[in-house]
Amino acid sequence: MGWQENVIQYRRDLHRIPELGFQETKTHAYLWDRLTSFGLEPKAIGGTGIMADIKGNQSGRTVALRADMDGLPLQEETAEPFISEHPGVMHACGHDGHMAILLGLAERLTGERNFPGTVRVFFQPSEEKLPGGAPTLIEEGVLEGVDAVYGLHLWADDPVGWVGLRPGPMMANADQFTIRIHGVGGHGSQPQVTKDAVLIASQTVVNLQTIVSRRLGAFEPAVVTCGTIKGGQNFNIIAETAEVTGTVRTFSLETQATVEEEITRIAQRTAALYDASAEVDYVKGYPVVINHEREANAWAENLRGLVEVEGPEPNPGGEDFAYYLQHRPGAFLFLGCGQDDNSSAPHHSPHFTVNERALPLGVEVLYRAIEA
Ligand SMILES: [Zn+2]
Ligand SMILES: [Zn+2]
Repeated sequence: MGWQENVIQYRRDLHRIPELGFQETKTHAYLWDRLTSFGLEPKAIGGTGIMADIKGNQSGRTVALRADMDGLPLQEETAEPFISEHPGVMHACGHDGHMAILLGLAERLTGERNFPGTVRVFFQPSEEKLPGGAPTLIEEGVLEGVDAVYGLHLWADDPVGWVGLRPGPMMANADQFTIRIHGVGGHGSQPQVTKDAVLIASQTVVNLQTIVSRRLGAFEPAVVTCGTIKGGQNFNIIAETAEVTGTVRTFSLETQATVEEEITRIAQRTAALYDASAEVDYVKGYPVVINHEREANAWAENLRGLVEVEGPEPNPGGEDFAYYLQHRPGAFLFLGCGQDDNSSAPHHSPHFTVNERALPLGVEVLYRAIEA
């Protein structure tokens, strides 16, 4: 059997043994075994991560290709014959497919040895939860000697044969904030001796809406969502404290900085207006994934005739692949893996499945990054 069939088996094997971030020990052992069986000398990196270099038969640049390794804390509810054997853990984002594609590519490259330069395949622990495995791998040298870095994400919303790839922002800064308002509580009949935290929280939520509408330009996209507002104990008690939480999505570091500053300013000054106080906890998620122009365009050009390449709108999700692109030129794309009958469940759903026809295609798509 060739890599075309093996890639499907690899994914099924990995699907059975999903593990959470930085705990990918069985996954590590499985990848290690396969890479060694191809004649490679893998190296452990960043805890459960692995990298291996494959030398071509011509001179050329060193290209790094990444797959993420972790599953999600979710009980699988599909009817797949290779369903998760780990209760409460599931590959529900397609990272099993990413690893299989990269293994398939390593198998193909070691078999053919007909490419320029060096290809470094690397498997990264923990993409799903902060702080992500990428910063550790970079610190431990995964990009040393590397000229460009590429990666992909399976994408169930689009069919097999579709690829989303564009220069510039591909995915968002995905941040979260918590605003704690401290007022003075009291009897519902005596507002004059209180500082009503529920009222202040309400004003804060309204005032935060002016960030997007009045502090950002027309071509600076951003989302500021207040997801929860909590405060108060009873109908006739004025609340002493209240809490507002929310999420922010932006597509540049500049816009991100503006929004963070404005949230803090508005929360504190709104509270001050009513003689109360507010503290803001702003937690940055993964930075925006920004594809480099030359690499994204060249890869898209190489994919012509193989798949339908669309330059999609930036995806408001987050991805720690962003860190690699802050250090080296490269690109990240979405590879359609929707079921042919449109029955695909969304990523992170317990019903999530992958159309396996996307897997051998994924090997070819990554292969075409080598000379991009
Ligand atoms: Zn995910
Ligand atoms: Zn994912």
